[in-house]
Amino acid sequence: MTNHAVLGRFAPSPSGRMHLGNVFAGMLAWLSARAAGGAILLRIEDLDTMRCTQAFADLLREDLRWLGLDWDFESPPQHTRSEAYTAALRQLETMGLIYPCWCSRGVLHAASAPHASDGHAIYPGLCRELTAAERAAHTAPPSMRLIVPDEEIAFTDGLQGPYRENLAKECGDFVLRKADGVYAYQLAVVVDDADAGVTQVVRGRDLLGSTARQLYLYRLLDRPAPDCWHVPLLTGPGGRRLSKRDLDLDLGVLRRSVTPEQLLGVLAWHAGLLDRPEPASARELTEIFSWDKIRCEDVELDLSLLLPEAVQAGSARA
Ligand code: GLU
Repeated sequence: MTNHAVLGRFAPSPSGRMHLGNVFAGMLAWLSARAAGGAILLRIEDLDTMRCTQAFADLLREDLRWLGLDWDFESPPQHTRSEAYTAALRQLETMGLIYPCWCSRGVLHAASAPHASDGHAIYPGLCRELTAAERAAHTAPPSMRLIVPDEEIAFTDGLQGPYRENLAKECGDFVLRKADGVYAYQLAVVVDDADAGVTQVVRGRDLLGSTARQLYLYRLLDRPAPDCWHVPLLTGPGGRRLSKRDLDLDLGVLRRSVTPEQLLGVLAWHAGLLDRPEPASARELTEIFSWDKIRCEDVELDLSLLLPEAVQAGSARA
């Protein structure tokens, strides 16, 4: 556990090369902590061992260094942290808040589980009331779910403003450990950030909907919660979401044609930090960073600023 008044973090998943959307959120996380005189932690989020690789983790570090987005500590990667997650799960178990669940997607579909606005099924609690005998009759390994309260969890996001969610009505009891024994992101991220003493979580707006679940876990585990800022998503033409499948926008390609300063300048301009898309180093941007300048709506990437030839040649996909 580090002891910094301000500790921000990068928490990338090494399931591909960093793309511009990752850099955009990572740059804002870095600037937020550095502008406040704070430190940065790097944590490789590799719970999904099927998709994450050591090679991509090495490239992530290398890309961050190239961008000038440095870090002060690196915490152990998530795949090595099972003991800490198990201890947290046990703590919640002793509070009577965990139960085993054998529901497959098919079972939930057949039960016509309602869906939340982000598309995930709201778990209707089918396995919560199973008797000990019914549980014993199952032979397959279960997932482990957390019982959630019928109560609004309210918080203020530094960028998106007030947000509230009733976990029982809008989420349902959620999984903390999957049937294959792998811990869920929701538990791991809370245990890791709390153990490291992270005070600032800056990440994409797509994770705003996870925050109420995570704040509930902080409360149950009696750990201080970090402040959060959910930054806009960088989109492709027409508002299409960028992903690691956009290979032409990953750093492996972009590093051949642009400098780190050009890239950061374009992203800082898209974020609302610069008036013009002019080159700027991470250090220079720290001097002018303020959350008041950062836009909260999603931003469509102007690819012509980075890859003019690609746009002219018509290879930028719509
Ligand atoms: N590992 C997640 C990602 O790469 C970020 C999770 C978080 O910031 O809480 O999208």
